[in-house]
Amino acid sequence: MNKHITLAMGNGGEENNELIHKVFYKAFKNEILEKSEDAAVIHGGELAFSTDSFTVSPLFFPGGDIGKLAICGTCNDLAMMGAKPKYLTCSVIIEEGFPTRELEKIVRSMKKELKNNGAIVVSGDTKVVPRGSVDKIFINTTGIGEIQKKGISSNSISEDDVILVSRDIGRHGAAIFAAREGIDLSTSLKSDCASLTLQVQALIDADINITALRDATRGGVSAVLNEWAKQSNICIEVQEDSIPVSQEVYGICEILGFEAVNLANEGTFVLAIKKEDEVKALEVLHRFENSSNAVKIAVVTQQYKKRVVLLSSYGTKRFLETPTGELLPRIC
Ligand code: MG
Repeated sequence: MNKHITLAMGNGGEENNELIHKVFYKAFKNEILEKSEDAAVIHGGELAFSTDSFTVSPLFFPGGDIGKLAICGTCNDLAMMGAKPKYLTCSVIIEEGFPTRELEKIVRSMKKELKNNGAIVVSGDTKVVPRGSVDKIFINTTGIGEIQKKGISSNSISEDDVILVSRDIGRHGAAIFAAREGIDLSTSLKSDCASLTLQVQALIDADINITALRDATRGGVSAVLNEWAKQSNICIEVQEDSIPVSQEVYGICEILGFEAVNLANEGTFVLAIKKEDEVKALEVLHRFENSSNAVKIAVVTQQYKKRVVLLSSYGTKRFLETPTGELLPRIC
């Protein structure tokens, strides 16, 4: 591993995985951590527990801000384990000189998003550091959720499952990039930043046989699919043209040479559900504006174990790799 920490080591992709395994997993090794789920399942399978830090730049972006993101991010990781978010902590590290009004605006966003999740902040911490020691504000949230449906796991996906995505992909990454670079496409490009609690609850209420869920944050859909292929020792075969990508995101990708599958999302999730529930699950998702274009994107096979294969509309095949390098630091 590199002698010094590089930006790529925080990319949600290959280098990030290496850092996590060689430094943190090595030291903290235990059965719960090694499951590598979106949230730890604790207390005899009753509770989900997760933490996330937010460093996004700019703090305010089309479709959200760091406050909304800080609640959505942690609540979504809980939801991905079939849990209802209940209790959160909120820790902030603020740079000296930061405008109080902006802090209040961020906290108002947090309050609103907590309400959407039915969760409350029950503990917190405030640190102020000298100018230049941190860029404006960093936020950490940790959350506990009550598991509504047990057994959801990224380690048990099989050929009996199909893979769906909840909406068009890459919006958060594209929106942050456009905001940061001052690219004005005069479009309605907005981050997908949103809480997923209601969608997950609706899937559980409809008795959908859910195998695994994961929000496609850093590293995008390609990181999720590659993690799943490895964790469940399967091959995931993706029909490339079935992946929904909006015109705006496609435009940004064209300009900058990105692939939408590698771009971050903050309100988009990938689902592995039993084949027979595909139609019913899509019906449930289509009831929500945020997942009105949910669609099946892949099947599970045994062809190339631990790999993701992308099938083009021309009938060609290529491997979809875990993202490497760092497209966009401070995306979340
Ligand atoms: Mg996650």
